[in-house]
Amino acid sequence: MTGTDVKEAPCFAVYGTDGGGPFVLVSDHAGRAIPPELGDLGVSEADRARHIGWDIGIDGVGRALARKLKAVLVEQIYSRLVIDCNRAPGHRTSVVKISDGTPVPANQDLQPEQIAHRENTILHPYHARITQELDARLQAGRPTMVVALHSFTPEMGGVKRPWQVGLLHNHDSRLAVILMELLRQEGLCVGDNQPYALTDTSDYTIPTHGEKRQLPHVEIEIRQDLIEQPSGQEEWADRLARLLPVAWNEFCNLYGSDTVVPDRGKEGAAA
Ligand SMILES: [Zn+2]
Repeated sequence: MTGTDVKEAPCFAVYGTDGGGPFVLVSDHAGRAIPPELGDLGVSEADRARHIGWDIGIDGVGRALARKLKAVLVEQIYSRLVIDCNRAPGHRTSVVKISDGTPVPANQDLQPEQIAHRENTILHPYHARITQELDARLQAGRPTMVVALHSFTPEMGGVKRPWQVGLLHNHDSRLAVILMELLRQEGLCVGDNQPYALTDTSDYTIPTHGEKRQLPHVEIEIRQDLIEQPSGQEEWADRLARLLPVAWNEFCNLYGSDTVVPDRGKEGAAA
């Protein structure tokens, strides 16, 4: 088994085979395909290949990581310029009219039914596949950790970003804190909710599959210049395949491997 046994579906690909571990990998922005009826969205090939079209390099990292961890990876194949699968339906940046200075002509003046079509054919089936994976594991009583994989552009708005990797977290920071420390021990510059902070509205995948389901989770952002090439992708997959199990073990030692996280002090929560 090479770990590349892709099961094609209309909008997502599933990589890796479940080797019995706790990890479920998800990759919202790994793809850059466009449904044929939308042509090239009116965006040049050069711009579609930029960070606005997809998370550069994360496809190679995710697939290698799935292979090394013996874990399942659910990957979105369509470009985030068609619809952003890490945004709630109806979010103002779900279907962008302009991204990092580049207009997206095919996204101007869309009718509600056109947006609904993208939601129904791309956003919802992708998240349903992740839900299916998690449901099956929970029904089997298996400990589960959701790992969301992303990459970020090294420079935004003329500002260079120093972090090599960032961990995003919000309501349950326990795994992020553990993994952050492990990455810092590697001598890396690690962003704490940098270059983005995870909030209830900025993201969709971790709030939906991690926080709402109370599953242990972590959202990882890797700087794109480090994983543009296959060698960098392999290096980062190796690193995460080594550190994620350490983080999980540390998490279980501290909090137990129960898939349901304890109360985090939310309003009205019981002891
Ligand atoms: Zn992303």
